[in-house]
Amino acid sequence: MTSDGAPLRLVLATANPHKATEIRAILRAAGAAGELVARPESVPEVVEDADTLEGNARLKAAALAAATGLPALADDTGLEVDALGGAPGVQSAYYGGGDHDSAANVARVLDEMARTRRASRTARFRTAALIRWPDGRELCALGTVEGVIAPAPEGDGGFGYDPIFRPAGGAGRTFALMGAAEKDALSHRGRALRALAVLLVES
Ligand code: IMP
Repeated sequence: MTSDGAPLRLVLATANPHKATEIRAILRAAGAAGELVARPESVPEVVEDADTLEGNARLKAAALAAATGLPALADDTGLEVDALGGAPGVQSAYYGGGDHDSAANVARVLDEMARTRRASRTARFRTAALIRWPDGRELCALGTVEGVIAPAPEGDGGFGYDPIFRPAGGAGRTFALMGAAEKDALSHRGRALRALAVLLVES
């Protein structure tokens, strides 16, 4: 919903069905009603080669806005592990060598953690959530959740790095051990999208 009360029609830039489900649920719970259009399959995926999360979110949203003529919503997420000097960070999708190969990404983080001399397991997820209109106007909000890396994967829920991330406030459980609503309430994506919904109403 925008400040003039008109429902907004947004196209989702993500091709990840887990993310799309989370985005829909978070915006609905935030009362940011409007029509969320699925990403058309005909639009090719963009190369995410910006050096910031915000830059990658912009690349994805701009491509969808140009292809559809609709305002587009994109998010880009990175996991920062302190003992790894902030890696995988903006490289989170490709850290294990493949393209969005979550098992390989998780395995590499655990492997690097086992080899580092640094004892700290602190980490955080960061998300940049961005809406871009076809005329170039945009709104962007950031969300962060602090936590620690578990010694081994725990749980079957969620996606990506969820089985090895225990968020602060989660009673020691990984995101993959939580229900969807509980993850959304604590998560980087939930925080970024709720902040974005506020900006949207104010814009
Ligand atoms: P992207 O934002 O889709 O580029 O995601 C970057 C990497 O982070 C991918 O490997 C995703 O699987 C992972 N990722 C994104 N969001 C989450 C999340 O909410 N939990 C765990 N991993 C995530």
